[in-house]
Amino acid sequence: MSSLLVDNIGELVTNVPAAGGDGPLGLRRGVALLVEAGRVVWIGPARYAPAADRRIDAEGGAVLPGFVDSHAHLVFAGDRAAEFAARMAGEPYTGGGIRTTVGATRAASDDDLRDTVHRLRDEAMRQGTTTMEIKSGYGLTVADEARSLRIAAEVTAETTFLGAHVVPAEYAGRPDDYVGLVCGPMLTAAAPYARWVDVFCERGAFDADHTRAILTVGQAAGLGLRLHANQLGPGPGVRLGVELGAASVDHCTHLSDVDVDALAGSATTTDPTVATLLPGAEFSTRSPYPDARRLLDAGVTVALATDCNPGSSYTSSMPFCVALAVREMRMTPAEAVWAATAGGARALRRTDVGALRPGVRADLMILDAPSHLHLAYRPGVPLVRQVLHNGVPQCRL
Ligand SMILES: [Zn+2]
Repeated sequence: MSSLLVDNIGELVTNVPAAGGDGPLGLRRGVALLVEAGRVVWIGPARYAPAADRRIDAEGGAVLPGFVDSHAHLVFAGDRAAEFAARMAGEPYTGGGIRTTVGATRAASDDDLRDTVHRLRDEAMRQGTTTMEIKSGYGLTVADEARSLRIAAEVTAETTFLGAHVVPAEYAGRPDDYVGLVCGPMLTAAAPYARWVDVFCERGAFDADHTRAILTVGQAAGLGLRLHANQLGPGPGVRLGVELGAASVDHCTHLSDVDVDALAGSATTTDPTVATLLPGAEFSTRSPYPDARRLLDAGVTVALATDCNPGSSYTSSMPFCVALAVREMRMTPAEAVWAATAGGARALRRTDVGALRPGVRADLMILDAPSHLHLAYRPGVPLVRQVLHNGVPQCRL
């Protein structure tokens, strides 16, 4: 069995405070890390490092768990650069542009969709993302939702059925009929390729009754629950997500005290509902950012993700989201890095990623910088020098 030793590490972010590390990130120095069969098998003082078949010299750079991007929409065709330009010139974001992408996606070939998914997944990987959730939601027919998920499943196990993204034009004025389709034939066709079910619970999209109906039948079909909630205004989504045991409620921009209390109460349970913040969306729609400080101070488990999609957040960059979280949402660099790695893993209810300790998947990144602080301190700079995914180096050294 081939082994790989990563040494000359400037700072190791383990996210395992109990392992003798320093702070919530479990920082360790002077250590090396051994990989075998795609797993981390040993972390210890570099001077005691076992012999290995191969070696990667981190050259004093920081080593972190790979980013876990728990919210992305990669299966689509076309782009909406003109809509972005119009918004920057003063038009508000309403979510209505989703239907533009639906038309382009339905018209695209499987190979066109596949090319986009692979291109964006590779783009994310070069920026340190080793686990990526991918949603459907631009097909909105039985066949197009199923093929979106089939294509997504080629690159990730974290696939999410989002037939309830928006009511498509052909169902305008008949949302009950569309929800019936989503809960019936569409779910049946999508479920074999999906791990999760998601609903865009928002004024103009799906209300509380529709959301509850879709999540309930999705859960009965064996899917885990996640939710787009409280993005554009206050609403019932966050409380509903907590009540139904969703793994994550995403956006969380407009929260009442009751919403925050519900999330904080959930954080002390064995399967908390994570608040996943998506600052790329606020950046790209020039909207107020979610109040991360309020959530963290209340004890809520917070994750960061990109929301990568062609309309409201066309970035695949987790380092960009970390920088936004620190600069615009008053998270400390350590909180932001934790949220982008361990937080994302909790939002996907995964224990094998988002941390570095013996037994986990060897998913990690090596920075061209001595510390995780540089991810926010040097925004926009391509600091990720190497990525290991399942123990396999992804970048040319
Ligand atoms: Zn989204």
